[in-house]
Amino acid sequence: MKQHRVKPGAKVDLSQIDPGSTPGFKGKRKEADERLLKLNERLEVLQESLWAEHKHKVLVVLQGTDTSGKDGTISHVFEGVNPLGVRVAAFKAPTPEELDHDFLWRVHLKVPCKGEIVIFNRSHYEDVLVARVMELVPPEVWRQRYDQINDFERLLSATDTVILKFFLYISKDEQRKRLQERLDDPQKRWKFRKGDLLDRAHWDEYIKAYEDALARTSQKHAPWYVVPADKKWYRNLVVAEILVKALEDLKIKTPEPEEDLKGVVVV
Ligand code: ADP
Repeated sequence: MKQHRVKPGAKVDLSQIDPGSTPGFKGKRKEADERLLKLNERLEVLQESLWAEHKHKVLVVLQGTDTSGKDGTISHVFEGVNPLGVRVAAFKAPTPEELDHDFLWRVHLKVPCKGEIVIFNRSHYEDVLVARVMELVPPEVWRQRYDQINDFERLLSATDTVILKFFLYISKDEQRKRLQERLDDPQKRWKFRKGDLLDRAHWDEYIKAYEDALARTSQKHAPWYVVPADKKWYRNLVVAEILVKALEDLKIKTPEPEEDLKGVVVV
């Protein structure tokens, strides 16, 4: 899974990555599903220990173009996990109140506390993506934000937050299919926004903005992973593998039980 990690300081050229590829996985689809099931079970145990230990904080950032599968990743990777101690924060266009503050204000309010896993469905990265592409702020404003984001994430990391950032990378053609599916399926039509087409018209600029964001903000303590996401099963597997490995690395210890419990019989 290391191959998906963006090395700090390295240039990122997304044209070199095939969103339809499944690097590192040669097995059958069925094996991937079985593996994901095992990872779901492991995550359930690890999350319970994380909550019990009450020490580390875990922040999972999900970014990607429209239809890249942010919602689907959340539901499949976290299937079976106890909602106690897990939270999703979704970031939409800022409200007038949020715009009256600095861009990290609303984000800081949502970061995980001890024992918690928080999943960001979109994030502060929108402020160097949509804000840049749609010219919501002048260049001198968004250009400063890479350093501001790095400083912010350094603070979170120094206060026991594990940060994992995933760019779910789909191809332009896969997006076309998924948007069309939304339009054609009455059950899914509510998800379609005309604004999605406007964003799609700026595809190349978004890719460039992603390349810069990935290159400038992948840090050892807050790495970016580029996940080929045309195949949903592969996307889920990669995110689950990386998350479980990061939690295993914490070597979580559940609290010591009270003394003298040996031989205690509950009547
Ligand atoms: P999603 O596409 O994530 O399922 P929505 O359709 O409600 O949810 O889209 C959320 C919208 O909010 C996106 O178009 C996104 O670009 C926008 N957004 C999020 N954060 C910001 C921000 N900081 N500035 C401007 N727009 C933002």
